[in-house]
Amino acid sequence: MEFQIYLMEFESVIGLEVHAELETKSKMFCSCSVVDSTIAEPNIAVCPVCTGMPGVLPVVNQRAVEYALRVALALECEIAHTSIFARKNYFYPDLPKGYQISQYEQPLARNGHLTIQTKKGERKIRIRRVHLEEDTGKLTHVHQDEESYSLVDLNRAGVPLLEIVSEPDLRSAEEVRTFANNLRSILRYLKVNSGDLEKGVMRIEPNISVRPLGSDELGTRVEVKNLNSFRALERSVAYEIKRQTREIQQGKSVIQQTVGWDENLGVTVLQRIKEEEDDYRYFPEPDLPPLVIEPEWVASIRSALPELPGAKLHRFTQEYGLSEYDAGVLVAEQAVADYYEEAVAALAEISREEVRPKTIANWIIGELFGLLNQYNVSIEQTRITPQGLASLLLLVSQGEINQNTAKAVLAEMFSTGKPADEIVAARGFTQISDSEFITELVNQVISANPDQVEEYVHGKDSIARWLFGQVMRSAKGQANPQVVQRELDRQLSALRQTDGQ
Ligand SMILES: [Zn+2]
Repeated sequence: MEFQIYLMEFESVIGLEVHAELETKSKMFCSCSVVDSTIAEPNIAVCPVCTGMPGVLPVVNQRAVEYALRVALALECEIAHTSIFARKNYFYPDLPKGYQISQYEQPLARNGHLTIQTKKGERKIRIRRVHLEEDTGKLTHVHQDEESYSLVDLNRAGVPLLEIVSEPDLRSAEEVRTFANNLRSILRYLKVNSGDLEKGVMRIEPNISVRPLGSDELGTRVEVKNLNSFRALERSVAYEIKRQTREIQQGKSVIQQTVGWDENLGVTVLQRIKEEEDDYRYFPEPDLPPLVIEPEWVASIRSALPELPGAKLHRFTQEYGLSEYDAGVLVAEQAVADYYEEAVAALAEISREEVRPKTIANWIIGELFGLLNQYNVSIEQTRITPQGLASLLLLVSQGEINQNTAKAVLAEMFSTGKPADEIVAARGFTQISDSEFITELVNQVISANPDQVEEYVHGKDSIARWLFGQVMRSAKGQANPQVVQRELDRQLSALRQTDGQ
């Protein structure tokens, strides 16, 4: 029996609950400014409404609703004509009213999906709901000497918050990370959230369970809280899958609980055992009317949506012949995708020769990203313009400089902001394409290495590569490799022919 259990295969079932602050100017139900709560002075953006004083009335921020609709439409949800704000009651010092205004039975949007690229091909992850609510304040717990107390900062209280809940359609830690990354890209494309997990403006809580492969029943789920990076998200999910699978294999049962993630130890840590679902005693918010969304408004928001990463990825593979991987890297950030397309357009303008869009992608993903990472600079800040990169790649395709020289030139363009041709001229980098000179070089190398040439003539083809290296070396790397190859091939095949006669 034990043997059988050991052989049983398991699958993990993961759903995500994502909270994203909406980057509006003012809060969800009052006119207080939305400030960066990681740097602002505590309690500077507060008023009687968001501090929960008696007798005040909330007013819905229309811009927040618009931002929420953008996200809901991007996730292809059905938009509710009427949605209802509700009071979610619970007591905690960061919640001055004693309840949070949220949406419960009638959320803003439902039944959407997000398609992700996985190892097993495309997968459609269903979105259960998207709804609007308000964020809570922030507590700082202080333990000083003998004293322990908590500081309350209400700058964040009442900031518009979007909750996005997926169906439990994700099956691995890797898929969770891909989904979360794609969702972050979408929020950034829509300019509603910076996607900054470290700052807590986007918060992702996975719930994970494990079941025997082929079963339709859901296992007992564990929720992970307070994850502040994609790495922590992926690692914690992978850890939970392993832990729960082991528990079940050992004949134990998984306990429903909320856990945190210890980044240093690489383990989840029990926070709270959930014996039953929390009872928040929801009821419709009496101070707010139902939220009615006119179809015309939805249509105008839909028509103003930008091309989203998924559609862009598809277009990049079709239009530029890129692999899905390369296209995925380029479209993750809109600024990178725009940079790429500007470089492609600039090359088309200055060059009749073919520089393949794939080559441009390689240079951006490889060399340019390398420099950006090394110096911690964003693509918007770099001094290399798309046009500048195009000019450099034109020099390579025309044989003026070779790949390695171009890499050095790119690094110099990055640090000085000078154009490629200026750097090439000043450094004497220009590649030697003069065929007479190259003929002479090849001649010299062939006469200087009679033994190797002899071996080549008698069939050892690999010597040709070695001879090529010798020619390039004697030209100090500045000879045009295509011209060298052509001349070397010509002279060597002439030698073989002579030998055969
Ligand atoms: Zn306020």
